Amino acid sequence: MHTISLQQAFEKTEKMQQSFVRWKSLPLTERITGVKKIRQNLLDNLEHYAKAITEDMHKPIAQSKAEVKKCAYLCDYYIDNAQHYLQPRTIETGWSKSYITFEPLGVLLGVMPWNYPFWQVFRFVIPNLILGNTFVLKHASNVPLSAKLLQEAVNVACDDYPVYLNLFLPGKEVSEVIAHSVVKAVSLTGSEAAGRSVAETAGKYLKKCVLELGGSNALIVLNDADLDKTIDKAVQARMQNAGQSCIAAKRILVHRSIYDEFLKRYIDRVKQLKTGDKWDETTEIGAMAREDLAIELDNQIQKSVAMGAKVCIGGHRKDAFFEPTVLTDVTADMPVFTEETFGPVAVLMPFDTDDEAVKLSNQSSFGLGVSLFTADVQKAENMAKRFDEGSVYINEMTISDPAVPFGGVKNSGYGRELSQFAMYEFANIKPVVVK
Ligand code: NDP
Repeated sequence: MHTISLQQAFEKTEKMQQSFVRWKSLPLTERITGVKKIRQNLLDNLEHYAKAITEDMHKPIAQSKAEVKKCAYLCDYYIDNAQHYLQPRTIETGWSKSYITFEPLGVLLGVMPWNYPFWQVFRFVIPNLILGNTFVLKHASNVPLSAKLLQEAVNVACDDYPVYLNLFLPGKEVSEVIAHSVVKAVSLTGSEAAGRSVAETAGKYLKKCVLELGGSNALIVLNDADLDKTIDKAVQARMQNAGQSCIAAKRILVHRSIYDEFLKRYIDRVKQLKTGDKWDETTEIGAMAREDLAIELDNQIQKSVAMGAKVCIGGHRKDAFFEPTVLTDVTADMPVFTEETFGPVAVLMPFDTDDEAVKLSNQSSFGLGVSLFTADVQKAENMAKRFDEGSVYINEMTISDPAVPFGGVKNSGYGRELSQFAMYEFANIKPVVVK
């Protein structure tokens, strides 16, 4: 990838400040019209954008198309709801008049990952673009084509000037951009290490940050769950995107009374997954995004096997391709339990009581989400508050939906994306009070 100098990065950042002054002064309805144009352009050029994703990070083409469509759906959500969310709100006080307004902060820096190269950027950019912020974006080094097209795709919003510019910089130079006086805040999706580094610099320069750092979600199957539906969901929840998802079900906890049957059927279902050519519309699992990531996954599995884990199916790597894998006999001190496994490896563990399931689920440094499968929805709702997690899904895998707040606790980060809450993370929530 051809990188730019820090001086060029600063010039782009200052240009985005000039755009910010113009963009924020437009009526809200015009900024929403900009997002309508982005949406239409995405749908008109769906194949073109999807091909870039598949080219960059090997996602099977059908899933790349689904990712682009989901970005258009996210635009729909904010087109329909943003005006309501940003409406000034009257507050009851002892003064004659008081209300809250929502104003943009300025130029935001995005540091984004490769696993959903379009979706991760869209969920950060669209609510903030409507609010009136503008962007400099450092995308992951291994998705240059997507990065280039994203800049074009977002700038469809405005005919007169850009509102979004790429900074093709190495990760280590990001701190200089955070320090720049024009940058008001930063949002990062990625690893814990990158999150710590960005948060440290943001703290030093008193810039707000939102961090979405991944997880090691549990998917819990209680003894009364409908196994037909649960097994399909549990396979999808772990194996989609070749397991490279922060909200994937990385630890599948199954009540001991149904464990053997569940395991057998889970393995059968994994065997049916179609692996192969990323350009084939029917392929379900392709290669991982980079060979080093597959090697890292291999190391986590090998270390866990040395500690007693058993490979029931899969476990082999060829270059960046990793076979869909199922592990059993896992204990809570093994890397596949304590660390995030970012690839197609499912860990299945039995439990005896609901209390034990909650304890195992919480026994993680991450806290992004948990899924519970059961016929007793009331019981699951009662259990929900016992999880140290950013979200709880009952009889559904943990997903990201435009209407639902997304984010974690513990080492999964802080702040929220999506829903109305995403519109306030980078807003100046400004009350006006009249005596
Ligand atoms: P990284 O966290 O390194 O990459 C994510 C983004 O952060 C990229 O744009 C990267 O740039 C940038 N970055 C990396 N280091 C820094 C830094 N010190 N300061 C500022 N920006 C930085 O993820 P990897 O690609 O190395 O993946 C490693 C692991 O991270 C995965 O196996 C997975 O566990 C986790 N991860 C989680 C994701 C999620 O959705 N939460 C997404 C991606 C990864 P560059 O590409 O130039 O290094």
